[in-house]
Amino acid sequence: HHGSIEVIVGPMYSGKSEELIRRLKRAQIAKQKVLVFKPAIDDRYSIEDIVSHNGSKLKAVRIAHAKDILEYIEKDTQVVGIDEVQFFDMEIVQICKDLADRGVRVIAAGLDMDFRGEPFGPTPALVAIAEFADKLSAICMTCGEPAHRTQRLINEKPANYSDPIILVGATESYEARCRLHHEVPNEG
Ligand code: ADP
Repeated sequence: HHGSIEVIVGPMYSGKSEELIRRLKRAQIAKQKVLVFKPAIDDRYSIEDIVSHNGSKLKAVRIAHAKDILEYIEKDTQVVGIDEVQFFDMEIVQICKDLADRGVRVIAAGLDMDFRGEPFGPTPALVAIAEFADKLSAICMTCGEPAHRTQRLINEKPANYSDPIILVGATESYEARCRLHHEVPNEG
């Protein structure tokens, strides 16, 4: 059987994980041998599941480096899923290519842009060599239009009321925004 590369890109909340999980579960229903990977730095909800924001999930192997995938591949592996592909090193591109050349169906999902709106890691290169690429959109949290970008929000917690300039425990969060409402944070 011919191998191929499919990529699913878009901002946060666009349904990339949902779509990846949907395709991989269908492959499992077809009794195909499926392996799923995610980068070790992503511990969004759990340590061994891919979890989408709507709650669907699938067991995945957490790996630190792209080349670690090769240790898990067996002769009968038919489908390889990769989530959060933007966090892998550029070697992931060659590995996906080699797997597809060997007949594997590779399905990778990830952010195409970082919170500044710049191309994110290996994702654009993967889109370029893929047979199939789907660019998903979320809903802009400001205006309700389709959103293709990820806004970083900094929630700053003042240390005390007398000196609100000193900030401790600042946390980051993200939301989907359209081009008009996406703002690149000023780094001063
Ligand atoms: P991604 O992997 O792209 O971050 P997920 O598959 O994890 O996306 O989550 C998609 C789900 O997120 C949607 O089905 C919806 O239930 C929820 N969601 C929350 N906020 C938004 C938003 N701003 N736009 C679209 N979907 C959203």
